[in-house]
Amino acid sequence: MDAKASTQFCESPILAGRAEPRSGGRHSAYLIVIRGGIPGTMLRMGDEGASLGRSSENTFPLDDMTVSRRHAIVRMDAHGQVTVTDESSTNGTFLNGDRLAPGRTFPVEDGDRIQLGSGVVLKLVRLDSSDEHFQREMFERTVRDGLTGAYNRAYFLGQVGRLAAGASAQGLGLVVMMADVDHFKRINDRHGHLVGDVVLREVAGVIRESTRNEDLVARYGGEEFIVALPAGSLDLASDRAERIRSGVASRRIRAAGDEIHATVSIGLAYGPPGWPVAPIELIEAADEALYQAKASGRNCVVLARDFLPCPPPRDTQSVELLTSL
Ligand code: GH3
Ligand code: MG
Ligand code: MG
Repeated sequence: MDAKASTQFCESPILAGRAEPRSGGRHSAYLIVIRGGIPGTMLRMGDEGASLGRSSENTFPLDDMTVSRRHAIVRMDAHGQVTVTDESSTNGTFLNGDRLAPGRTFPVEDGDRIQLGSGVVLKLVRLDSSDEHFQREMFERTVRDGLTGAYNRAYFLGQVGRLAAGASAQGLGLVVMMADVDHFKRINDRHGHLVGDVVLREVAGVIRESTRNEDLVARYGGEEFIVALPAGSLDLASDRAERIRSGVASRRIRAAGDEIHATVSIGLAYGPPGWPVAPIELIEAADEALYQAKASGRNCVVLARDFLPCPPPRDTQSVELLTSL
């Protein structure tokens, strides 16, 4: 797997690029999600501590309605002792089943369970480097599609809200693209399923090359991919989609002695900055635009214009306008 195919989410952002955290020996301390969100998600503990809550501003945002926006703080001291403090949450923080008094700090031991509200349970574990590798590998298998290395649909749907909130906090809009391989059944029928698999991997490769690490790229269904990314303008959104479309069309895919020519159709939906649109609405609009792209002859990008505050530009050849959704 390349760098873009390694999950970034589980690493605490505040630890990035810093020295190994002190952890009382060679073991690092982690909070691992065992209920709520995506089981297996890991947060490595560091000196700075981690805030847990529903708001995207937390170190570890948790998308659960029973979790308060700022719910609890977990810290580790110089000796590796981990503690938890409830931040006056509405539904409470529980340590091994006991509700914690708000504002007071309690020690957390290896194997202890921290429950936030009624939906999220985290477990403190100390892992050496080989255990850590195994745990990460298991997590990767949970969230990624084995064939293409892209995220799976469940992970995408679990993360897109967080991405949208982060984009909005930076004053950016959100783009959702649905890309579906054209006449893929014919490729399978002519060349066989194994060659079809190679084509899917190549298409995923083009999408990865056309996006950034922080963008969400997932295999949404059989030969359908979904991309979500923050973008400041419609031009940038269209440019990304066009890059993927032309990248696939010009890719020379060789498999089993054949050269296969593949194309994708793309439905694109853009929620501009300061124009809040729920990600699910963007997904539905992109899906509908994809349907239009197929109906318009394939190998093209169709833009859903519903969410735009002003008419989109008409100068991009491949971008056609969807007049009614
Ligand atoms: P369209 O341009 O309208 O999208 O036509 P299509 O042929 O791409 O769409 P259709 O839904 O008719 O066929 C999709 C095919 O994708 C059918 C299914 O067998 C194949 N498929 C789904 N998943 C995989 C996979 O993992 N590997 C391979 N090789 N084929 C797959
Ligand atoms: Mg298809
Ligand atoms: Mg399809």
